[in-house]
Amino acid sequence: MSNAIEIKNLKKKYDNNFELGEINLEIPSGYIIGLIGENGAGKTTLIKSILNITKPESGEIKIFDKNNKKYESVIKEDIGVVLEGMFFPEILTPNDINSIMKDIYKNWDKELFYKYLNNFKLQSNKKIKDLSKGMRKKLEIATALSHKPKLLILDEPTSGLDPVIRDDILDIFLDFIKDEEHTILLSTHITSDLEHIADEIIFIDRGKIILNENKDELLDNYGILKCDKKSFDKISKDDIVSYKKNKYNYEVLVNNKNKIKNKYKDCIIDKITLEELMVLVIKGEKKC
Ligand code: ATP
Repeated sequence: MSNAIEIKNLKKKYDNNFELGEINLEIPSGYIIGLIGENGAGKTTLIKSILNITKPESGEIKIFDKNNKKYESVIKEDIGVVLEGMFFPEILTPNDINSIMKDIYKNWDKELFYKYLNNFKLQSNKKIKDLSKGMRKKLEIATALSHKPKLLILDEPTSGLDPVIRDDILDIFLDFIKDEEHTILLSTHITSDLEHIADEIIFIDRGKIILNENKDELLDNYGILKCDKKSFDKISKDDIVSYKKNKYNYEVLVNNKNKIKNKYKDCIIDKITLEELMVLVIKGEKKC
């Protein structure tokens, strides 16, 4: 299968000592890829580098096999984007957006746009400034989808949305990738959304990719072992990814859950959520 995005040796530095990279990444077409990491980890910087909005120090990025520097001239048509703080002036209405976008995108589908407005209960003559945060997000998603892109790149598309509309939007994303030729890269702090829809998870920590795995395998392989100090002392440090000492017990992040279950038969290993995995990887200690 061809790659939607290919990144080689990407590095980006900011003056505040933040450094992204070196990033090497292949994102195949046909999947939903979830980008996770704590605030300031570098998710938006990676997304902006892919979209050629921010200029990296080094590296090469290809989108559908074309250098991303051709974004405006060649690739734009194929990508739908939702980025924080980068939308139309607030004085405009959805009707205005339709008029503007039909001249920008060859494949702009007016009927589809108004269908999304209808589904999302958005009035076509209401100014953006009079929309709630959630309604703006819905309008941004409707706009990104309506020129029928092959790749959606979304930075926190569901933040600020209630669970019901989030569920509707996740269904739209699942529908979007159904034919295996469409791809979604989305960054989010709502990791439960990714548990529903993502195929792959990319975990960024302090500018580096520390995990890039199939979501189901990730959630099958990792687990949380909960035990008292006596049992914790018996666990080999090689079997511990990281751990957290609580008031009454230890929470231990383990990989290869089934092997560990057999080795430490008196310990209980619970399933892990992406959120628990993130917290234990970022805040957990290493056993010495
Ligand atoms: P969040 O989850 O909070 O959106 P993020 O993972 O998207 O965070 P980035 O926005 O990529 O993180 O920021 C990574 C680092 O780069 C942060 O330290 C941030 O302060 C810094 N940074 C981002 N944009 C700029 C900029 N234009 N100039 C200087 N520093 C920047």
